[in-house]
Amino acid sequence: MDILIIISKTGKELMKIKPYIKCSYLLFLSISAFVSPSIFALTNAEIKQGLSESYEKFKNLNTGKNADYIPELAKVNSSLFGIAVVTVDGKIESIGNADIPFSIQSISKPLIYGLALKDNGIVLNKKVGLNATGQKFNSIQAIEINPNHLQNPMVNAGAIQVTSFIKGKTSAEKWERSLDFVRKLSDGKPYLGESVYKSETSTNLRNQAITRLLNAYGMLASDPMDALDRYTKACSIMITTKQLGLIGATLANNGTNPISKQNVIEPMYVQDVLSEMAVNGLYETSGDWWVHVGIPSKSGVGGGLLAVVPYKMAIVVFSPPLDQAGNSVRAQEVINFLSKKWKLHYLAQKQ
Ligand code: GLN
Repeated sequence: MDILIIISKTGKELMKIKPYIKCSYLLFLSISAFVSPSIFALTNAEIKQGLSESYEKFKNLNTGKNADYIPELAKVNSSLFGIAVVTVDGKIESIGNADIPFSIQSISKPLIYGLALKDNGIVLNKKVGLNATGQKFNSIQAIEINPNHLQNPMVNAGAIQVTSFIKGKTSAEKWERSLDFVRKLSDGKPYLGESVYKSETSTNLRNQAITRLLNAYGMLASDPMDALDRYTKACSIMITTKQLGLIGATLANNGTNPISKQNVIEPMYVQDVLSEMAVNGLYETSGDWWVHVGIPSKSGVGGGLLAVVPYKMAIVVFSPPLDQAGNSVRAQEVINFLSKKWKLHYLAQKQ
């Protein structure tokens, strides 16, 4: 009598199946592979092993430097280093300083873009550009040279524009809705970091110039300085590596939070958010990132890097020292390493 034995990639015998259920089980497996790739997710032990391996490998990498154009970020301890993996079924694994709140900075951009899509529908995409600028995240030249001055939601100008489209009767209501949305994507606990907010507000002359230029071109949907203020507040949200991992897992899970089970954002908008992260998430080095790593990701000058593997999990790394483009050096190394180890490149040949 023949028996079907199912063996994992690591050679473990997972189960034996008798012939009379073999056909229907094979059918189930092949359908599941299409509708729910997460069924083949990594085990806890494999995740733990990947975390400790990457932590050890890169903990002594000391290149890059903290952002210092926002004085409060220059003060953050450069040696902080945390990694978290959160899966679509709510498993959380971490190593290092994964419970220390840090400034979310530009990782708020895809989230606010998601809320603006919910508020306005896909017509928003016609008003805000979607293409790479090829320039630095705070480029003024990019506003001048791009067709109709359009940017994209992942750089400062595009994000300030997106922020102006958030709905609410008052500025306070628009901000509360924004923070509430970020909280619902996570565990309800991220908060406004007053000292980072004050530090950035008192030094953001360049963002003021960008905002005035956008206003001159008639691109804003709210009072310009109010849009900038709410943008600055969103960048000043404090969040831990694990909490950001839960946000990523919610996005990986088509917008349904794996812990609260609440659908926070519709799948059609998650698709737009992840597309923008894939195309523009690491600014002018997004092309390098996609070819080498192939995971929709978003960096912030606070040292965070969020990578979302659709239907599977999120990987988040926090390490403040940045490269020239403003992306965390260690975080990029860790996620690149794990993408290869776990074969997460979106276009990798799956066998
Ligand atoms: N708040 C920062 C700024 O406006 C965000 C930049 C970033 O994280 N790349 O410059």
